[in-house]
Amino acid sequence: MSRPVLLAHGLVIDGSGGPAWPGDVLLAGDRIVALGEGLRTRLPEGMAPEDLEVVDCRGKVIAPGFIDAHTHDDAIVLRDPLCLPKVSQGITTVVTGNCGISLAPYRTPQSRPPLTLLGADSFRHETMASYRAAVDAVQPALNVAALVGHTTLRFAAMAALDRPADADEAARMAALLDACMADGAHGLSSGLFYEEAFQAPAEEVTALARIVARHGGVYATHLRSEMATILEAMHEAGDTAFSAGVPLVLSHHKCAGPANWGRTKETLPLVEALALRQPIAMDVYPYVAGSTVLREDLVDGVIDVLLTWSDPHPDVTGRLLSDVAAEWGVDQQEACRRLQPGGACYFQMSEEDVERVIAHPLTMIGSDGLPHDRHPHPRLWGAFPRVLARYWRERRLFTLEQAVHKMTGMTARNLRIGERGLLRVGLMADVVVFDPETVRDTATYDRPHGVSEGIDHVFVNGQCAYRGGEARVRARAGRMLTRAAA
Ligand SMILES: [Zn+2]
Repeated sequence: MSRPVLLAHGLVIDGSGGPAWPGDVLLAGDRIVALGEGLRTRLPEGMAPEDLEVVDCRGKVIAPGFIDAHTHDDAIVLRDPLCLPKVSQGITTVVTGNCGISLAPYRTPQSRPPLTLLGADSFRHETMASYRAAVDAVQPALNVAALVGHTTLRFAAMAALDRPADADEAARMAALLDACMADGAHGLSSGLFYEEAFQAPAEEVTALARIVARHGGVYATHLRSEMATILEAMHEAGDTAFSAGVPLVLSHHKCAGPANWGRTKETLPLVEALALRQPIAMDVYPYVAGSTVLREDLVDGVIDVLLTWSDPHPDVTGRLLSDVAAEWGVDQQEACRRLQPGGACYFQMSEEDVERVIAHPLTMIGSDGLPHDRHPHPRLWGAFPRVLARYWRERRLFTLEQAVHKMTGMTARNLRIGERGLLRVGLMADVVVFDPETVRDTATYDRPHGVSEGIDHVFVNGQCAYRGGEARVRARAGRMLTRAAA
């Protein structure tokens, strides 16, 4: 049993969006046991000052541990349970299973795109219970809240993916999802943009979302289009969630492709209009480049495309597609074909759109990091500190309290994560201490593996998981979470 920890003389930001106040936070066991000023002189019964481990938080913010609303960390928490890229950002919980792709419930020796976002040989869990047992056995450094992917369900239940599910297949998907939800999953995700799900009509997804509604979960979607037909795709998502009766999360909201730059002036008012009839939220990562598998339809010959991995040509990793194409004397589409399977960063957004989405009151922060890529998008290591450094400290798009809220309390509420995301007596002791003047990301497109600066202490379930300056993870005290009641 470790000693109680007194985080003393900090600026307490509780994750609710409410105003910061100077004071202390006391952790004992895996809980927050007291909040206030001068706690050292009025400790709970049976606790003496000499029992305490005191962390001097002068000049630092004490906040709830960050919750990464959008990850593809399903397999990496098992493979590399230290999770340094995330814990070093102050992240204490990751939401897995996004974009229709979850590790459970599906078993295959060798996966293919887009499942390869989770690693090619990772699919070993036919049920959520099996995945839960694996996470609990490994005990990663942070907590895991799992969504169930529609595309994964299709792989598990369907004979061919280039068409809608037939009645038997739909029933199999429904049964698999129902079991996962009964096992505590937080909801359903879809990735209708991806070929393997694109032929699924809205009705196929709506039927699954109804099961999620029965269990009190949420529906997150990577829209069918983030380009020319984004408004239609948003209406489809809104109708799916509304008719099923589930809260909706629009994943990594963006207007992709130069032809669509500026169109957040259309999409955000639509989000607000939908919000009048149904619960809706967005997540976003703070960069103008997206990243996913290599796809010819995302290569327009205009935007920069940075290669993050390629199975047939591993040596091109970290180079621009245009340079590789020129070297080979082919156009970028042809080079893209030759490099598959692979992955890339696509510089497909405008800074103005990114800022509008980040600043929006319905937006929470999610990294969308891809932990299996050889040369990953820098969001994997830097997304959360970058929001604080660039979008709060430099650009002042919101208050520090709002920035923290977008990374904590808002996310916990939207994704049915109970007892976390706020600093309150009795809640779980997931806490980050950071320096508001120096916190910043160091990961870049050129050098994507970089530990952020200014993250001083990270506590997960009361255990110190990370101390700034050490660039290593200490305790592994994470847990597989179970969906909280709505
Ligand atoms: Zn996605």
